[in-house]
Amino acid sequence: MGKSYRSELVGVFGCPVEENPTGVMEEAAFAKMGLDYRYLTIRVEEGNLKTAMEAVKAFQMKGINLTIPHKVEVLKYLDELSPAAEIIGAVNMVVNRDGKLWGENTDGKGFLLSLEQEGVTAEGKNIVILGAGGAARAIAVEMALAGAAKIWIVNRGVKRGEELTKLLREKTRTQAEYVKWEGALKLPAETDIVVQATSIGLYPDVQEKPDVDYDTVTDKMVVSDVVFNDPHTLFLQEAEKRGAKTINGLGMLANQGARNFTLWTGVEAPVEVMTKTLKREFGLD
Ligand code: NDP
Repeated sequence: MGKSYRSELVGVFGCPVEENPTGVMEEAAFAKMGLDYRYLTIRVEEGNLKTAMEAVKAFQMKGINLTIPHKVEVLKYLDELSPAAEIIGAVNMVVNRDGKLWGENTDGKGFLLSLEQEGVTAEGKNIVILGAGGAARAIAVEMALAGAAKIWIVNRGVKRGEELTKLLREKTRTQAEYVKWEGALKLPAETDIVVQATSIGLYPDVQEKPDVDYDTVTDKMVVSDVVFNDPHTLFLQEAEKRGAKTINGLGMLANQGARNFTLWTGVEAPVEVMTKTLKREFGLD
């Protein structure tokens, strides 16, 4: 066969997706490893996911990332799930294995790795998680499996909050409690780690912050935010003012991206290149 002008395709489906920097990070990694892959950032509106997943097969794409609002909905269109994705009930990446779509969730593991890189572990800790959507579920399940002592799930919607709490109780050994989010949330004094896992503060709503009584944040707490665009969220700024150690969403993004790279290509990911690219993208270098 002569020269191939066809690249392998991966990408992301989401809405909004315009400000998602994953493509720059993955393409830097493909270039570094000399792989002929392209990462496409594609807007897929709610209601169009079925067609989009059929296109993954029709275009023989190697796989796809899913972001808001598709991470739970996508389960309907997959042939197989990893055990972790099965428990979590949400998928952030799919691998096309010869026309069969296999779903995995790398968000929670990426998040835990970003804590570990800052010397923080979940084992034995009291953890408050804001949110009960796809990201919160992945993080809660992985933190529970990593041996968290207690997890409070704080969510505005009762159904999703109670469902996640029940899941933690049934599938893990962690104590779990649902807290309905009404008015400014007071953090329990024994909190070790706070995880902001809602979409509040995500571009373009960078002026928004979760309704928390920020005077209940202490300098003993580790406060993290999954929002990565802009990574220096108002939520983290408030926590910094109270002396808390803060961890932004970039580390989670880089680490889950590295895992996705390996699952798609079979090649070990150049994590440092990916982290550096993200930092440059956000003007943090
Ligand atoms: P989902 O749509 O699945 O869940 C959204 C969550 O946010 C729900 O718990 C929802 O509560 C809550 N929420 C949204 N708006 C409000 C509000 N005004 N007040 C209170 N709660 C609110 O989204 P995902 O879980 O997929 O994504 C959440 C965030 O995580 C996004 O910002 C995304 O960019 C980020 N993310 C970051 C990653 C990283 O690598 N750093 C990876 C994955 C996601 P309710 O149930 O009441 O509606």
